[in-house]
Amino acid sequence: MDPVTASMIEIHDRLSSLTDGEVADYIPQLASADPGTFGLALVSMSGNRYLAGDTDEPFSIQSVSKPFVYALALSELGPAEVARRVGAEPSGEAFNAISLEPGTGRPANPMVNAGAIVTTSLVPAADPEDRFERIRACLSAFAGRPLDVDEDVYRSEVDTGDRNRALAYLMRGAGSLSGDVDETVRTYFRQCSIRVRVADLAVMAATLADGGVNPVTGDRVVAESVAVRALAVMATCGMYDTAGEWLLRVGLPAKSGVSGGLIACSPARFGIAVHSPPLDRAGNPVRGVVALTELSERFGLHLMHQPGRHAATVTDVTTALDHPSHRARTPAQRATLDREGHRIVVIRAQGILEFTETEHLLHALREYTPPAPGWIVLDLDRVTRMAVGSAAMLDATLADLASAGHEIAIAAREPLLDPIGDDGDPVPWTPFRSGAEAVAWSEDRLLASAAPAGSSG
Ligand code: GLU
Repeated sequence: MDPVTASMIEIHDRLSSLTDGEVADYIPQLASADPGTFGLALVSMSGNRYLAGDTDEPFSIQSVSKPFVYALALSELGPAEVARRVGAEPSGEAFNAISLEPGTGRPANPMVNAGAIVTTSLVPAADPEDRFERIRACLSAFAGRPLDVDEDVYRSEVDTGDRNRALAYLMRGAGSLSGDVDETVRTYFRQCSIRVRVADLAVMAATLADGGVNPVTGDRVVAESVAVRALAVMATCGMYDTAGEWLLRVGLPAKSGVSGGLIACSPARFGIAVHSPPLDRAGNPVRGVVALTELSERFGLHLMHQPGRHAATVTDVTTALDHPSHRARTPAQRATLDREGHRIVVIRAQGILEFTETEHLLHALREYTPPAPGWIVLDLDRVTRMAVGSAAMLDATLADLASAGHEIAIAAREPLLDPIGDDGDPVPWTPFRSGAEAVAWSEDRLLASAAPAGSSG
């Protein structure tokens, strides 16, 4: 058995005996849930699934729908308009609290009921059916399969939903909710009644963790900036009124719901979901909270814990004196290169260039820059990706080196260099397809500068 599944099964089996918590009982469909049901699912960034326990049980998504509908509203309206209508501050109060911003009536955040109802109402649509269809389609794209509605849960939510209706009327009175209250609340109840299995929730969480791309289907569901915002609001507001304690102990963006669903996202690593109906007093699934606390500690997943660089960025610093090119040279040229080859410095780097790696590379560039005028060969052949901010840092450094009188040759695979110097000005460096070509070119340039025309042959 693979070690990920083994860990999950071990946690599942041990925590199955935990019987604390109460199953939500405000509607019969939730009250009749088997408190023993306990399933775990994890979906990696390669779209692989790892399952443990009861993973076939369908249940209503409830509040776990909230970050996804928030992502939909952000995609449709943009962050400024959404922020005008719903805040992003933890309310510190229960999820169904009647607490609205004085003056504007704006609800605290989209993870509490008031904010979620406004968020649902923001989804642009021709009519209420169309609005719900867009929500269902969006959640289905996050899950990677068509999701349907548990009509019994929906009817019970409508029958018992007076508090949510009251919240909606208050917000309409305060001016923060526009449109028909009954229709909006019904759309919200339908959204909460969408039927999922725990593995669906894990794919949905993995899609947010993957910057908005569903790692199973490969489809982009929302823009990366939207996924980042949804994760940020989950991190501060996702766990009802224990969000602070959760961020402290588990340190992952998460969202729980009253049917016992819980998702957590480890950015660029995986999405995980738990289904276990018994809830603690804050409304979070008891076994889910313990399982994720343990997993986070075991695998060092806390957002604030950064393990640092995984591999050296600068792998080699040499000069053309130690490692000349293989280009044929006359004895006179060879003599010049033996004397002057140290003025060509070759720096090789590898891996992904994010801030930390780029800072390391730029430090090496400063440390080994030859006296001006010199030649700098940057061999980035084994660099696989460069972050936009890193490209800007490198661009500025290369411009400085060029204005100090150096010539720069960069070897890299095709698209890597595109973001460097993308402001349209001519770039102060020459691109090559290999480090060997870049060194040979630098030698040619050195020879041309060292020898008056006609005297080098
Ligand atoms: N339908 C429920 C409500 O709005 C969802 C609550 C929840 O999952 O927190 O009351």
